[in-house]
Amino acid sequence: MASKVLNIEVPGEIRSLSPYPPGKPIEELERELGLKGSIKLASNENPLGPSKKAVSAVKNALKNLNRYPDGSCFYLKERLSRFLGFSPDSLVTGNGSNEIIELLVRTFLGRGDEAVMGEPSFAVYPLAVQAAGGRPIRVPLKDFTLDLEGMAERVSPRTRLIFIANPNNPTGTIVKKGELERFMDRVPTGVIVCMDEAYREFATSPDFPDSLGYVREGRAVIVLRTFSKIYGLAGLRVGYGVTQPVLVDFLNRVRQPFNVNSLAQAAAIAALDDTGHVEKVRKNNILGLKYLFAELKKLGCGCVPTEANFFLMQAGDGEALYNALLKQGVIVRPLKSYGLGEYIRVTVGTPKENRRFIETLRSIKNKNQEGAGER
Ligand SMILES: *Cc1c(COP(=O)(O)O)cnc(C)c1O
Repeated sequence: MASKVLNIEVPGEIRSLSPYPPGKPIEELERELGLKGSIKLASNENPLGPSKKAVSAVKNALKNLNRYPDGSCFYLKERLSRFLGFSPDSLVTGNGSNEIIELLVRTFLGRGDEAVMGEPSFAVYPLAVQAAGGRPIRVPLKDFTLDLEGMAERVSPRTRLIFIANPNNPTGTIVKKGELERFMDRVPTGVIVCMDEAYREFATSPDFPDSLGYVREGRAVIVLRTFSKIYGLAGLRVGYGVTQPVLVDFLNRVRQPFNVNSLAQAAAIAALDDTGHVEKVRKNNILGLKYLFAELKKLGCGCVPTEANFFLMQAGDGEALYNALLKQGVIVRPLKSYGLGEYIRVTVGTPKENRRFIETLRSIKNKNQEGAGER
């Protein structure tokens, strides 16, 4: 399967990768479309921005840019340790939780080994697995939710990893306590369960599972969290994993020595201290979802109930609606590449952005109806 480029042998699994679809910079989109003041509800980012305390910690850290960062993230791990009630040696930090996903794969998955995941789920899992010469085993969602039973059935002697995004991206749905409990009973020893909880802080369901409890019990579980979403630090790239110290030890052997930059470390510590900001973001999300779901219902748009800071909306033709919104400066995420061509994914914005999304959608719907009436 390998074939050559510039007479260089490129392995088949790399040749057949399709890259994570990059979004254009907002400035470039505006230039192309001749727009100004567009809003981005496409990448599940924090619409309220970073904590002021984090920004001031970054400014303070700027003067030491000549130094390498602390390769052990000593102070960040100490702060996280207090925050989570786990010892620092249970923690692994990464250049975003994305890096930890990749580290997990590179550390524990050999060629031909399998990783079980949902379909659709976070696009980075199959990319990382395939790039490492592993086999992504994709299990279709049921009712927009990870099918844990189906996933348990696909575990084989070659399975090394199972990825559970909870809430799941791009659907916003969660797996619940009881389901996860039954699932964990079926997972054989020797398989690492990765609970990717990038949006955990937004979830309000009382049935959201306590995944850290499995780590506490000594199970081969790693819980991933990130500073990119509720903490509003996506641009700095910092995330962490909580797991057994013996597993952290292996991940530390594979990772780059200075994988988390110094500004990110300073900002993350300050962001953890700023609980007021986190609360504000959480509240904005709850109120935003309430407003959006009520308005979308009036407009007759079906939505998938969500526990995250984004949701799926029925669009008929998702690509067409994406383009129509884009022309008016509202950027959402089309989902054809996820096999959900009839949906768009919308990130909750500020109250003003949410109103703009609804008004723009309403005008598009009205225009479509007029168009249909004239014909
Ligand atoms: C956004 C997101 C992340 C966060 O990635 P970072 O590298 O920490 O920015 C992780 N997992 C999922 C499912 C996500 O949607």
